Amino acid sequence: MNLPDQISHLWTQVLGLIGKVVSPDWGSVIGLLPVLLLIGVIGPLVSVLALVWFYYFMRRPRTRIRFVDGPRLAAIASDGLPLFPAGEPYDLRTGLIYPPGTSQNDAGDLLSVTCPMCGIARFADVTTCTNCGLVLKVDGRVALRTLQPVGPPPGGAAAA
Ligand SMILES: [Zn+2]
Repeated sequence: MNLPDQISHLWTQVLGLIGKVVSPDWGSVIGLLPVLLLIGVIGPLVSVLALVWFYYFMRRPRTRIRFVDGPRLAAIASDGLPLFPAGEPYDLRTGLIYPPGTSQNDAGDLLSVTCPMCGIARFADVTTCTNCGLVLKVDGRVALRTLQPVGPPPGGAAAA
């Protein structure tokens, strides 16, 4: 088969396809439905999924950095006051909770922190609790991990 023959063969196929669309032979149209469905539905769907995937992976690192490093808004209790978790610096005025180790907000105002041991609030730049003497390390993640076993051991109070 030489090239002109191939072209005319292809042309016959194209004409046949156009003929099916222009003067529909319903059997062939229904036969084409899966193809049309594939192009009309699956195609855009795959494009949207690709866009979502792209958007998600492009945005995720930035979102994560903001979550770890930035302040977050405190949850509001039923009495309307913000709930500040013990051991994490917070700004009472804005209701923001700052990452452990932070002692000032963006404006340079001192943050407060609630002692995880006795619940007394103090300035976040003070590492030792003046009430119970618990030392809150500046590195928050280490502090939170070492703080966990500080409470009475299970059954310890009963044994004492
Ligand atoms: Zn304390």
